[in-house]
Parts: sequence; C-alpha cells; structure tokens
Amino acid sequence: PTNHQSNRHVAAVHSFGKVPLGIKRKGLRIVVTGGAGFVGSHLVDRLIARGDSVIVVDNFFTGRKENVMHHFGNPRFELIRHDVVEPLLLEVDQIYHLACPASPVHYKFNPTNVVGTLNMLGLAKRVGARFLLTSTSEVYGDPLQHPQKETYWGNVNPIGVRSCYDEGKRTAETLTMDYHRGAGVEVRIARIFNTYGPRMCLDDGRVVSNFVAQALRKEPMTVYGDGKQTRSFQYVSDLVEGLMRLMEGEHVGPFNLGNPGEFTMLELAKVVQETIDPDASIEYRPNTEDDPHKRKPDISRAKELLGWEPKVDLRKGLPLMVSDFRQRIFGDHKEGST
Ligand code: NAD
Ligand code: UDP
Ligand code: UDP
Repeated sequence: PTNHQSNRHVAAVHSFGKVPLGIKRKGLRIVVTGGAGFVGSHLVDRLIARGDSVIVVDNFFTGRKENVMHHFGNPRFELIRHDVVEPLLLEVDQIYHLACPASPVHYKFNPTNVVGTLNMLGLAKRVGARFLLTSTSEVYGDPLQHPQKETYWGNVNPIGVRSCYDEGKRTAETLTMDYHRGAGVEVRIARIFNTYGPRMCLDDGRVVSNFVAQALRKEPMTVYGDGKQTRSFQYVSDLVEGLMRLMEGEHVGPFNLGNPGEFTMLELAKVVQETIDPDASIEYRPNTEDDPHKRKPDISRAKELLGWEPKVDLRKGLPLMVSDFRQRIFGDHKEGST
C-alpha cells in the first residue's frame, strides 16, 4: 500500500546515508516492541542517536525500565506499558517487533509469538509501516544441516517442550510472509542466533548469562549434558547493526544474523574462566529435552545483500558484558571482583 505514511517512509529512508553532514534528514517514527528488553534497548539507543522518534511498547515481562530510563525526558522517546497480545493503535513508519518471552524459562504457555505478531502486522497493514520480525535460529530445530543456511527448512519437534517458542516463531514467519504476499505489507525477517551482551537478563537461564553470573558469584558453572553441544555467540552491537541494515535495505529475507564463531559449552566455560576467574569450577547437570546438538549460522546471504558481518568476537565481547554484570550483581561494592 502506497499511502501517505509509506511515501514519507521511503523518502526518508532514501535520503538516509546520502545526506551531507550537517543537513538533517527527517526523523522516522519507529515502534520497538520489546524495547525495554536486552536487544531492544540497545536498538533503541541507536535509533534515538540517529535522530528518530521511538515508541517502546513493552509489558515488562522480562524487560526492565532501567534499560531505557536514560531516555526519559527526551521528547523523541515514549514508553508504553502494553501487552502486544492486545490490539494497539499507533501511527508509525517502521515496526521492529521484538516482543517475545525469549528464554526457555519464560517462553512456555505464552501466545505472544502468534497473537502479538498478528496484531503488529495488522498495525503495519493499517498505517503502511515497514515491519521487521526478529525470528530465531531455533526455527532450524536440531539441525541436520551444518552450518545452517536460510534455505534449510529445519528439524523441529512440533509437540516438544521448546515447540511453543520455535513453532511460535515459525508461525510468526508464516504470518509475516502472508501479510507481505496477501496485503502488500513491507516486511523483513531476521533469524537471530545466540546473542549476549550488557543488559542481558541476569537469571533467565541462558548459558552465557548463567556462566558469567555464576563465575562472578563464585558458584560453579552449570554445564548441561556433556557440554559438547555447540552454539555460536554474537555480541549485541553486531546484531543491532544487522537489524538496522535489514530494515533499511531492499531485501525481505529471511537473513541469518549471528557470529559464525562456534564453541562447545565447555569451551565457553573456559573463556569465562579466562575472563573472570581461572578457579571457576564446573558442575554437570542433566541436559534439557530436545536440546539442539549444534548450531552455527551460514551468513553468506547477509554478507552479500546487506554488506553485514559481525566484528566483535567472544573474547572481545565477553569482558564488556562482565563489567555490566559485575555492576548489577555487586552494585558499588567491590566484593567478588577480580
Ligand atoms: P528479552 O527478554 O530481553 O526481550 C524481550 C522483551 O519483550 C522484554 O522486554 C519483554 O518484557 C517484552 N515482552 C515479552 N512479551 C511481551 C508482550 N506480550 N507484550 C509486550 N512486550 C513483551 O529478550 P531479547 O534477547 O532481547 O530478545 C529480543 C528478540 O530477539 C525476541 O523476539 C527473541 O525471540 C529474539 N531472539 C533473541 C536471541 C538472543 O540470543 N538474545 C536469539 C534469537 C532470537
Ligand atoms: N490491529 C492492531 N492495530 C491496528 C490494526 C490492527 O492491533 O492498528 C490488530 C487487530 O485488532 C487484529 C490484528 O491486528 O486483531 C489483525 O488485523 P487485520 O486488520 O489484518 O485483521 P482483521 O482485523 O481484519 O481480522
Ligand atoms: N546450557 C548449559 N548451562 C546453562 C544453561 C544452558 O550448559 O546453565 C546449555 C544448554 O543446554 C544449551 C546451550 O547451553 O545446549 C545454549 O542454551 P541457551 O538456553 O543459552 O540457548 P539456546 O538453547 O536457546 O540456544
């Protein structure tokens, strides 16, 4: 639909990057659902810095006001407490749809991925906004192809304990493509691989946050299973750069956004030891059901079409997260710091 908003959007986007320094481009109006969360709040920082007006929509299920509090008082920033499972009326140019209970501890029994995505697509259709879905590498399930390319259809257990999340995101991708083909909504799909960095939830059970918090608290790092399963860890600033390039670019996707550097959980524990405490110990625990054995993105498509690739490797990114965690766990006290 080429209505008033989408024309304004296209004009603004096309001038972006070509405007000589000192000449202001007209800022966009952008909604970030889940903008009080880990990834969302870093994205909001970049959009505000770029000169856009940002509306964060978040129900604070896992997000925190502290993540965006530094923007309070900025007239280009608004925060709305709202559950995206309920309809929402706004006038905007772009929608970054991140709202989702993103960790295994939180995502069970939650209809956000399906109903929330439907509502945000309905909003995009009504106002002619461009819509970006943050999907996940979990759509590949326990992959039979390695590394995973976007053309791989995945190996997902539809009735397993994780299926609410991975099948939920697969449905969200389906809805997104249906609104694109059926209603002409401009859409973008990112498939995000494991991402870490400052502001990550302290206790949501993800492996990097668990190991870092445990090592700082002098508790053993809990390795699930034999620790030989692999993941590829991306630093949050690389992800945010990828999401913005995807939104501003011409391609629908899906695009894998992740760091191809692959680590076993035991190797990750070792990097955490090197970074925080060489004496940090390991404790083995039973693994969770349906845990993918390995995961690593093939990012050729994003490299070629978005001109994007990650710049921060694990040994460079982890210390940046550790200082944030140290601050949040110990406050001003220096106990436990090394
Ligand atoms: P997060 O939990 O920090 O952020 C999610 C945000 O969504 C939170 O602020 C939460 O309060 C909000 N939210 C949840 N349900 C909501 C609802 N019904 N209505 C309104 N707000 C709601 O997680 P994150 O790591 O920042 O993840 C952001 C997005 O990226 C998610 O869609 C997630 O699936 C995707 N993703 C993240 C990773 C990763 O490793 N971090 C990997 C793959 C995909
Ligand atoms: N929706 C919304 N905000 C809008 C427009 C729609 O939250 O500005 C919701 C709407 O309530 C509906 C969903 O998005 O539940 C899908 O909307 P659409 O118009 O595509 O479907 P319909 O309402 O025609 O079934
Ligand atoms: N994991 C672990 N110890 C923990 C938390 C997770 O060994 O304290 C393992 C988990 O079994 C999985 C991997 O780390 O194999 C990544 O788990 P996470 O929940 O961070 O991400 P996802 O499974 O969604 O990739």
